[in-house]
Amino acid sequence: MHILLCEDDDLIASGIVAGLNAQGLTVDHVATAAAARAMVLAAQFDVLILDLGLPDEDGLTLLRQLRQNGLELPVLILTARDTVTDRVAGLQAGADDYLLKPFDLRELSARLHTLIRRVAGRSVNLIEHGCLTYDPSSRETLLAGQPVDLSRREQALLHALLHNHGRVLSNEQLKDSVYGFGDEVESNALNVHIHHLRRKLGHTIVETVRGLGYRLGPADAKSTGPEAP
Ligand code: CA
Repeated sequence: MHILLCEDDDLIASGIVAGLNAQGLTVDHVATAAAARAMVLAAQFDVLILDLGLPDEDGLTLLRQLRQNGLELPVLILTARDTVTDRVAGLQAGADDYLLKPFDLRELSARLHTLIRRVAGRSVNLIEHGCLTYDPSSRETLLAGQPVDLSRREQALLHALLHNHGRVLSNEQLKDSVYGFGDEVESNALNVHIHHLRRKLGHTIVETVRGLGYRLGPADAKSTGPEAP
């Protein structure tokens, strides 16, 4: 899951980034509304965590404008403003959820997962795909009931594919899901992760769509293991 965090308080922001990173989530952090606007245009995110009191513009103004421009990204507002009027204003501006400061990181994380699930139209936490089961909260992956050990990047890649079931994702879109902006990405890094995912979850799990990118293919417990020489 790739998250954009717009928060001008460095202390709060670094706590959120560290906490969510530790749970295997990729987080990009910006501190102004202008930077957030540029980021959502430049890359694909799964959720925007938006502080309302920003130095250059009110978060609600930004949110309203993003919604007017057709942005459908789920948005979770983070704020110290706790009157009913504030909450209603946030929801009317297009927020999907609302978390009051100070908050517990575990609650933030739980809300993020709920939000993604709701947007994806799923009512249960587990994503099932053939003989593959993936739990976005615990990041536990089961293939035909057997646990599979995936690295953080492999989990992010799998989540992006499952989340976009049936859709072709370009190289760039997949990189956006797996890496943050600050991460140094070797040119063949994505291919390496795809190779590992195929080795662990069956060679058909990632389909190459020539010239366009990749899409989720069937999970196949029988075709895992070392490739034939
Ligand atoms: Ca602030």
